[in-house]
Amino acid sequence: MKAARIHSHGDRDVIKIDNIPIPEPQPGQVCINLKAAAMNHLDIWVRKGIVGVQLPMILGSDGSGVVIKTGDGVNRFSEGDEVVIQPLVYCGKCRQCMAGKENYCDKMGILGESVDGTNCEYIVLDERFVEPKPAGLSFEEAAAFPLAGQTAYQMLVKRARIQPGETILVWGASSGVGHMAVQIAKAVGCKVIATAGSKEKCQFAKELGADLVLDHYKDDVADKIKDFCGRVDVVFEHVGPKTWDTSMRVLNKGGRVVTCGATTGAAVSIDLRHLFSKQQTVLGSTMGDADSLTQIIKMVEKGQVIPKVDRIFSLEDIRSAHEYLERSNQCGKVVLEI
Ligand SMILES: [Zn+2]
Repeated sequence: MKAARIHSHGDRDVIKIDNIPIPEPQPGQVCINLKAAAMNHLDIWVRKGIVGVQLPMILGSDGSGVVIKTGDGVNRFSEGDEVVIQPLVYCGKCRQCMAGKENYCDKMGILGESVDGTNCEYIVLDERFVEPKPAGLSFEEAAAFPLAGQTAYQMLVKRARIQPGETILVWGASSGVGHMAVQIAKAVGCKVIATAGSKEKCQFAKELGADLVLDHYKDDVADKIKDFCGRVDVVFEHVGPKTWDTSMRVLNKGGRVVTCGATTGAAVSIDLRHLFSKQQTVLGSTMGDADSLTQIIKMVEKGQVIPKVDRIFSLEDIRSAHEYLERSNQCGKVVLEI
């Protein structure tokens, strides 16, 4: 089968299309013929070099496809079933996994980072890492939401515990995780202020349902929020130093900042006097538990959350897809057709 692998870290030319054997499902596993794989910024970081990545590695965390073979003991799936892949890998046996907090598992990993991923024709996975594909979605759309949706759901619903009527600020609403966050917050009944970095991206955020859209390069975000509603209850952060001070400045009493990323740097400062006197909370969040994927699938099935595909590349053209993703001009997800 064809598989997009890296044998070393570096620029886009380290990605090779290799011919490798089709994997065989073991007991409890299914073999999936992948039809689409969505890309994440994680793919770029893995390619450039993250500590602990075993080489060679098949890139890619998100995927959808058709079950073509099942191992002994598989009871949830049979040949021909259309499925989406749960990108999170976990042991399923430890205290955290037993408590449904799989993303706190010491053995937690992500497809395409800790084990071979989805940028290939066939993948073998334990059946617990697979879910039925939501009806009515193309394979491209179905591949586009699991990692981003699971991450955003965990951040907003499980960590920040957003409530109907609260106001949420979503930085970078046109990104994979941002476009999920806007839709999840609206589905919960929140008011959403979204930011984006161009006219097209602002229009995209408006179409997702945001109540107020700001251009974070042109607008004074804190001033505009003050005029619109005063302060916000929750800030959806994944940017870091470039946005952090504004995130803290616009935060209401009892407000929560929840972050899953540090794309502009790792270190930020906090004024403890504001933190304690306003009784605010700073929350870290990584990926999502297995239930977060179940919940986001339900939202997709109800039409409350619609995965948006910006552009589709062929697997063979994966280097161009990486180049396109690195330019960050997309609205929603970049997907590989396999
Ligand atoms: Zn575990």
